[in-house]
Amino acid sequence: MTPTTTQERLLSLLKTHFGYDSFLPNQLAVIKDVLGKKDVLTIMPTGGGKSLCFQLPALTMEGTAIVISPLIALMKDQVDVLRANGIVAAYYNSSQSPETQQEIFQQLKQGELKLFYVAPESLGSFGSLFNDIQISLFAIDEAHCISSWGHDFRPAYTQLGSLKGRFPDVPVMALTATADKTTQDDIVDQLVVPDAKRHLASFNRPNLFLEVRPAQNRIKQILDFIAQRPDESGIVYCLSRKSTEKIAERLQTSGFKAKAYHAGMSAQERSQTQEDFINDRVPIICATIAFGMGIDKSNVRWVIHYNLPKNVEGYYQEIGRSGRDGLPAHTLLFYSFGDVAQLRKFIAESDNAEVEYAKLERMQQFAEALSCRRIALLNYFGEHLTENCGNCDICNRPPEYFDGTMLTQKICSAVARMKESEPMGTLVDLLRGAQNANIYEKGLQNLKTYGAVKDVSWQDLQQYVIQLLNQGVLEINFREGARIGLTPLAKQILFEGKKVQLAILVKEKPKTRKERSVTAEPTGLFEKLRLLRQQIASEEGVPAYIVFSDASLKDMEAKLPTNEEKFMEVSGVGQAKLEKYATIFLKAIAEHQASLKPKLATQELTYNLFKEGLSIAEIAEKRELTENTIYSHVLKMHSEGKDIDLHQFITSEEIENIKKAQNALPEAEGLKPYFEYFDEKVPYWKIKMGLYFIEKGIMAQA
Ligand code: ADP
Ligand code: ZN
Repeated sequence: MTPTTTQERLLSLLKTHFGYDSFLPNQLAVIKDVLGKKDVLTIMPTGGGKSLCFQLPALTMEGTAIVISPLIALMKDQVDVLRANGIVAAYYNSSQSPETQQEIFQQLKQGELKLFYVAPESLGSFGSLFNDIQISLFAIDEAHCISSWGHDFRPAYTQLGSLKGRFPDVPVMALTATADKTTQDDIVDQLVVPDAKRHLASFNRPNLFLEVRPAQNRIKQILDFIAQRPDESGIVYCLSRKSTEKIAERLQTSGFKAKAYHAGMSAQERSQTQEDFINDRVPIICATIAFGMGIDKSNVRWVIHYNLPKNVEGYYQEIGRSGRDGLPAHTLLFYSFGDVAQLRKFIAESDNAEVEYAKLERMQQFAEALSCRRIALLNYFGEHLTENCGNCDICNRPPEYFDGTMLTQKICSAVARMKESEPMGTLVDLLRGAQNANIYEKGLQNLKTYGAVKDVSWQDLQQYVIQLLNQGVLEINFREGARIGLTPLAKQILFEGKKVQLAILVKEKPKTRKERSVTAEPTGLFEKLRLLRQQIASEEGVPAYIVFSDASLKDMEAKLPTNEEKFMEVSGVGQAKLEKYATIFLKAIAEHQASLKPKLATQELTYNLFKEGLSIAEIAEKRELTENTIYSHVLKMHSEGKDIDLHQFITSEEIENIKKAQNALPEAEGLKPYFEYFDEKVPYWKIKMGLYFIEKGIMAQA
């Protein structure tokens, strides 16, 4: 016999028994450890080749490998494959006939089996038998099921904790495709294999682009997204069966080939849909998360999460169904507080609520991350990327920060004045000086901070509050009406002069013509409002007319309300609907109005001249406008992210003076009081610019 290395011997076994020429990443290292009688924890993505890690050692070791696996169907599959490869293997479950079971017992006793598969629930039947046979190794598949921190805890797994004590010399292998860092540690603890060698295959899937967007106008965003990707295969994941159907229908009416898939459909319909997808007859599937398990379709080019997944493990598995061929794939997650509330409701009914709440929170943190998403994601699985990935939305458009200390102080002070007992919506209303029933009923209009941040839009202000939640300045007490409270950090900001950086909110940049949807845009306001209504209705799971009747929408079109007061005059708008819908409908109406006139044109003209190097005075002359107007164009363009250095127009001293004026004029409305305060010596445009600096928290330059 020629001497061979272990590696050569293993390679030849691999070829002989399984027909493969080389090992997949980590397989060889795991196999060597097991052959060296070490316990191992192996985390490999789905399809990474976990089974071979115990199947191959089982062939060369003395005795029988006991494989614990939770799914009968999978056991049967694996045993069939092994037998087809000429390997003696069997599985046991309670549904087999007594004769078959007896036969298996005999085979086991006689040591004929190289591998024996059993569900954890059936282990009890083999209590003493295991003592009488030679066992080569224990392989515990789907090992995350042993941990209540895992996403799929199964009580029957916990008895596996006694194996190592009973069979100290038999190596224990724990294998899984998903386990966050906490779960990994827990698996090792529960199995009492403290010295287990950990083999973590990288979870990184660098070809997946990671993107998260706020869940506004989801349907429209999805239509746009798909329109840009003709003929590509993708999956839209939804929380409810109903939304899978609605979205599929909506896509169909827009001319896309899409189908719904959920557990409520007949088995035949489901397998037909699955077939259609796999064979590219239907490129788009709107499905509940049940879809995709066990589907090995390599050219899924995108995955959209219409709803927030309930934990990061689920999210990762679902996006992982795209880009299996290693080519670029796009993943898009829509994030909304409505979903969080909904998920929390589900979780409240679960046995493992505390853990699930915590997992949901980590999912939220991921969705709200203001730093590289891949770093956040891999961190969750205990893998540490040191470089920003360059293939996520945040890396593509890193946020810019401003000194948000003053804004934060106002927000925190409002929270304090409301005795930390109100939810986010009320907080934002209070700061914006909203005039609604909730505010008046609670007498909040009398608080000192009422209307303190009028100049920031509702949605922007909410975003800042969320940033403060993420930064640990504020906290949400979910169990008690989601009221917002202050953390010790908030107190440092309020009383000890601690500074806060907030990310500047990026507005969606206007789409280029190419990016624009090919589907027909509704032209009239009524159509737009109807779409909006339909979207709200589907989000709330109510018929559209419950949101507003057609008559109400027509009245909005006629009255074109611009503020809450006017909105209240619309037929069918009562207090409740005002509170619930005013903001979003007013926004839609305002946007529609804005879209009618090319309002930006004049500012863009100014900006173009400015970029050509003309002075403000020259532009004013050329355009026959006042300098005040030109300056206001400049500010507007700056606020839209144009690159203009404002410091050339105003000194930090002047800004300081305006700040002083602001403090001296707490009730000031408009610019006139300032103009008078400065004895009419500071021009209006400069006051406006100073206030702009202060509001945006732009640092004054020395
Ligand atoms: P997992 O359980 O990790 O999802 P499997 O064990 O089912 O993955 O393996 C996935 C696929 O990869 C199977 O078809 C398996 O036969 C194949 N496979 C395993 N090891 C190798 C290898 N060394 N070379 C090529 N294919 C392999
Ligand atoms: Zn990144």
